[in-house]
This record gives sequence, C-alpha cells and structure tokens, in this order.
Amino acid sequence: MPAETSDNDESRAPDGTLWWELSIQPGTKAKRFGQEPRLAAWLWFNKHVGDTFTMRELRAALGPDIAQDAEHLNRRLRELRKCDWGIPSQRSDGTLAPDEYRLQEKGAQIWLDGERAKYKKFSPSARIRRLVMDQDGSRCRICGLGADDTYPEDGARVRLTIGHLVPQERLKSRGARDDLNNWRTECSRCNETVRDEIPDPEQLDEVLAGLKRLTGKEAGELLNWIRKGERPRSRVDQAYDRARQLSEPDREAVIDHLAKRVGETG
Ligand SMILES: [Zn+2]
Repeated sequence: MPAETSDNDESRAPDGTLWWELSIQPGTKAKRFGQEPRLAAWLWFNKHVGDTFTMRELRAALGPDIAQDAEHLNRRLRELRKCDWGIPSQRSDGTLAPDEYRLQEKGAQIWLDGERAKYKKFSPSARIRRLVMDQDGSRCRICGLGADDTYPEDGARVRLTIGHLVPQERLKSRGARDDLNNWRTECSRCNETVRDEIPDPEQLDEVLAGLKRLTGKEAGELLNWIRKGERPRSRVDQAYDRARQLSEPDREAVIDHLAKRVGETG
C-alpha cells in the first residue's frame, strides 16, 4: 500500500509530473534530473519508515537506469545517506535479505532545489581541509591510518578526506560549515562507509576469538575506541609520527636517547 497517494500535490513537480518520473530538471531547458532526487522522491512518497524495498522493485518503479546492478545502486544509496537518509542493507542489518534494503529514516527532500542546494554547497574550503588534516596529523580519526599507509585488507593506498561530525542538516550557515570543530580527518573508506559493502570483511566469532588475546587494559582501550567510533592516536603513536619525519642522523639521535632512557647499554 502506498504511503501517500500519488495525487498528493507535493508528489508532483510544477509541470504536474511525479517527481520520480521527471527527466528534465524544472526551470531548465534540458538539464537532466538526477537519479538520487528521483530515488529519494519515490521512497518519500511510496514507502513508510520501516518498509523494505528491493533493487527489482526500484527498477520496476523508476526504470532500469536507477539500479543497473548492485554496485550502481549502492552508489546511489551512499549519496542519499550523505543527505541524512537512513537506508541499511543486509551488511548492517542481518534481518534483511541480500537484495533487500530498509527505509529506516527519511532524509532531505533533495528533489526540491532549495533542499538539494544545502547539501551541494557543503564542500569545505581548501583552507579548512588543510587545517583539519594538520590538526589530526594527516590520519583518519576513525581507523587511525595515515596518508602514507595502505589498507591491511587489500593493500590499497589510503586516501584522506574530511568528514563532518554534526549531521549536515544542522550546519546550514557558512560559519558552521567553516567551524574546525565540525570536521575531522577520515580516510575515503571510513568516510563513504564503503567498508559496509565489502563482502564478509569480518566474522563475529573470529573477532571475538581475537579479543581473548587482549589484556584487561587493552580491552578497556578497545571498548572506548569502539564506543566512540574513533581511534585516537596515543602519545606513543604521535611521537612515532613526528620522529619518522626526522632526517636519518636526527632519528639516530632519538634512538640513542630512547635506548638510554629504557636502560639499554652500549
Ligand atoms: Zn579510516
């Protein structure tokens, strides 16, 4: 049963076309109306919060171009999540079937120009980007990997970006967007939650088995990281990052200093 009837005025663009059937952006001659706005509008007017939907259903309702394959659809959904839509897949909600998604929360009404613009203009200035990365020591605050590292799961080079801490909808003014405290350094994988879509990256029982090797102190530290969703760099990590950037002779001097300090001789 549809969540709202299709003759609800709000479900139609100024020319009377349903938003999700629109091909040209209103007010333009030939600018293509985006796939994310169409997908968002269809979900908004045809699904209740809590309902599930499948790729097959989207293709039937919106045409095959909206979800050519799972990868294509995942990209669309990722963009919606950035606009505050809550759309878990099986990776984050084990009660869903592999081809099933749940509409957990309706986000921004991005088929409307004004709403879409709020999210579009959201990219931070180059100055902010640089300051945030400097402040975080050019490391992802979520996984702790740095610009020179590679991902342990596949050896790919880490790419850093910055992400917002406060949900985007609450950051409407330019001033709020430029507030350093609203941003943190994230690697592209943590930022896009692509990890969610890598098939079977980890199994619960194996992760739990690995925990047995941790000391009580380490377990406490891990508990804090996971609760916070962030991996802070310890003082030792930070000192290592800085020492690594010294010249070789200076690094040797640091080694001598530390060796003395821990009581190594000669
Ligand atoms: Zn990361």
